Amino acid sequence: MECLICGSKAIVENKNNFVEKYNCPFCGVYYMEKSFKGQMENFGLLYGENGLKKIRKIMENYTKENRIVFTNNFNNPYISISNAIYLEFEDLANAANILINNINSQEKY
Ligand SMILES: [Zn+2]
Repeated sequence: MECLICGSKAIVENKNNFVEKYNCPFCGVYYMEKSFKGQMENFGLLYGENGLKKIRKIMENYTKENRIVFTNNFNNPYISISNAIYLEFEDLANAANILINNINSQEKY
């Protein structure tokens, strides 16, 4: 499997029905909910490769320094990891200065 951040070969493990653990030699270990992955895909459809590149850069900065769980809802995540930082897609978009509306839907904004 490929790392969703840098595209390198990564070890990917199902932690439960909703969460995958990625272990990338460059980006480190991170956890991603499948719904977050869907948000990334939707974002990619709307903002293209350039938009995704900005998001991936932010993700990489986080995962290199911290244990990160990429979640759809940090109030109700599908996995509990001690000492992890929980990030929603919107946090990444904000950090990249990209204004998103509802990335869960395909509605036009
Ligand atoms: Zn990587």
